[in-house]
Amino acid sequence: MKIAVVGTGYVGLVTGTCFAETGNDVICVDIDIEKVEKMRAGVVPIYEPHLDVIFERNIKQNRLSFTTNLEEAVEQAQIIFLALPTPPGEDGSADLSYILGVAEELGKMIKEYKVIVDKSTVPVGTADKVKETIAKHANVDFDVVSNPEFLREGFAVDDFLKPDRVVVGTESAKARKVMEELYKPFVRQGNPIIFMDEKSAELTKYAANSFLATKITFMNEIANYCELIGANVDDVRRGMGTDTRIGNRFLFPGIGYGGSCFPKDVQALAKSGKETAYDFSIINSVMDVNHKQKYVLAEKVKAYFGSDLKGKKLALWGLAFKPDTDDIREAPALYMIDELTKAGAEITAFDPEAMDNVKALLGDKIKYASNQYEALEDADALLIATEWQVFRTPDFDRISDKLKAKVIFDGRNLYDLVDMRNKGYYYNSIGRRTIT
Ligand code: NAD
Repeated sequence: MKIAVVGTGYVGLVTGTCFAETGNDVICVDIDIEKVEKMRAGVVPIYEPHLDVIFERNIKQNRLSFTTNLEEAVEQAQIIFLALPTPPGEDGSADLSYILGVAEELGKMIKEYKVIVDKSTVPVGTADKVKETIAKHANVDFDVVSNPEFLREGFAVDDFLKPDRVVVGTESAKARKVMEELYKPFVRQGNPIIFMDEKSAELTKYAANSFLATKITFMNEIANYCELIGANVDDVRRGMGTDTRIGNRFLFPGIGYGGSCFPKDVQALAKSGKETAYDFSIINSVMDVNHKQKYVLAEKVKAYFGSDLKGKKLALWGLAFKPDTDDIREAPALYMIDELTKAGAEITAFDPEAMDNVKALLGDKIKYASNQYEALEDADALLIATEWQVFRTPDFDRISDKLKAKVIFDGRNLYDLVDMRNKGYYYNSIGRRTIT
């Protein structure tokens, strides 16, 4: 099949590359000229494990190409995927201007039947809006399908190639057939393609993300309570998670969820609810609790050193909102940096992939180290904000050589409490007793 993917971010580029991998001809469109030039030169513009290999392979085999010219892509394609940003608008609702802007252009461009597939995360009713926008200009038959994406950054290629399920919202038999054909290679192991109407598909994505955000947030509250009563959240987590009705995933406490999806999707669902006079009280509480959780580690640091941190040097391991990505959107580390630098602390950070993005955002508000140990030089404490694998089994002798004192604040519970006691550290983590 001939496919166009409009928007080549985390979702669009992975979608386009994976569809090329199953033998389709894919042309990816982006308005970012620099990005398109990079991709044409064979460079993957984002960090995503395993993407580079299939990216290169499909470019070499002429199944994957890039353009800034939407019309050129639309002319060639039977199916047009929209993988455009839907950032939060000022009032918290999803900003649909990217999607509707492209829909407007598509309406003027399409000259024969096309299936237009919305892969972005959008509020209920967006497929109808896209349809209306295209129909204002188009004189040909077309279908608009809602096909929300569930991939996780860091596992995006695996998730796309072997999805737990594919959700397709369409009431058109013609479009359903096209989508079935397209996704067949990805569900060979028997995972379902779940067909439904467009609105239900749109809501499924928000419901799934909001549920996961709720699960994380619930566990963060349990962790905070554990600290007050002297329980160990790791034990509570294991005790709960082994119940198959609960499941052991998404139960790890930390310093709040971040990223490009959970914060904005949870907020957008709450906003959509408000518009229909429905008060999502669970969702509202989740947002409240999560906001506070992002400051938990900074509060611990202030409780230890005092609220004036002038003259204190802090090493920070991890900037990305989670491991295996360079994405720093809504990363808890950024909130922590803001709070601690406001209190006068000097921060030197290290992240395996996200430092360029933070440099572009914060400039010299903090210092950047070229490796995790360099960040520790002369620091009063080490703070951990992201659970990168390289931070899990560090050389503790090197850590104690470099730090002024053996003090660690761990927002991701990477280390064993007994181990830390034996090594002689002050070790303050989330939902567990502090080792002093
Ligand atoms: P992104 O910001 O990484 O990428 C969006 C791309 O669209 C950028 O490259 C941008 O230059 C391009 N773009 C903007 N306007 C354009 C236009 N008019 N024409 C062509 N290209 C244009 O976004 P993303 O993270 O890939 O997310 C896209 C959508 O998918 C969002 O709705 C998001 O909520 C959803 N989603 C994201 C993830 C994720 O993990 N990132 C997972 C599932 C769903």
